[in-house]
Amino acid sequence: MADTYVGRLAPAPTGALHLGNARTFLLAWLRARAAGGKLIYRLEDLDHPKVKPGAAEEAHRDLEWLGLDWDEEYVQSERMDLYRDALERLYHASRVYPCICTRRDLESYQSAPNAGEDLENRYPGLCRDRFADAAAAEAECGREPAWRFRVHDGESFGFLDGFHGWREGVLSDWSGDFPVARGDRPGYQLVVVVDDHRMGVTEVVRGDDLLPSTQRQLALYQALGWTPPSFYHLPLVVGPDGRRLAKRHGDSRLSVVRTQGMGPERVLGWLAWSCGWAENLREWTLAEIREKCDVSRLPRERVTATPDALRWIGMG
Ligand code: GLU
Repeated sequence: MADTYVGRLAPAPTGALHLGNARTFLLAWLRARAAGGKLIYRLEDLDHPKVKPGAAEEAHRDLEWLGLDWDEEYVQSERMDLYRDALERLYHASRVYPCICTRRDLESYQSAPNAGEDLENRYPGLCRDRFADAAAAEAECGREPAWRFRVHDGESFGFLDGFHGWREGVLSDWSGDFPVARGDRPGYQLVVVVDDHRMGVTEVVRGDDLLPSTQRQLALYQALGWTPPSFYHLPLVVGPDGRRLAKRHGDSRLSVVRTQGMGPERVLGWLAWSCGWAENLREWTLAEIREKCDVSRLPRERVTATPDALRWIGMG
């Protein structure tokens, strides 16, 4: 229903926003606006070791510069009580257990696993049913244990992705139990579920590097007794070598163009071209994109940002 759509932009201040982020955020914005819905800006600033000073302010400025707007704004670090409540609920339902596996095993617990980590490393269940409580786990290893979510064996989770179609998999086969916190510091999978639920998000629009996270999140929705939103996972922007857009492909940060005092029209022009809405590169305004472009019509493939295109935009 047009008036019930709630979407969100969820930047993590772990680095500068680049062209790939801009494409995802533009499409999230367009889908919300096309539905006549509400859009939430949510700063995902809990990934502590990776949060960069000033990146939150820069991301905010970049998205405003692009012309995007939103209706409500939240900061995850101000919402810790909500996440801890959810963790406690999972604890009382015996759905989490303390785990002392090494940092290496756990390095994906707090970040959105979209930095190319291998998600196929199934957790072998070493700490499952091993400790009576967190204190026993801590006594064993001398540090705060993590909390792992217990995935039921053989349970399958499926969802109809707005872009990729039906996705289904047996979570215990390829993921196994996954971490949701370290000590009382909640991690990405739990936090995103609590927030999307509490904020009434009806559709999650994000990069398809997070497709494998979705089944984990569905398991959390089920354990917490909440109805999940719909999902719409977009292909990533890649460099000419087919790998996700990164520094080695040239400087594609939005701030490069913004701080030269230029408007966003070339960035928007490239984005419109990348969505198949224009045959050639030219400058576009956001109003023009909103008026003329059909957000439900997108190319199926990953989009390549070439050095020539970056130069045309004013990046590179
Ligand atoms: N904050 C995450 C990111 O920067 C997005 C997480 C999500 O959309 O679920 O990629």
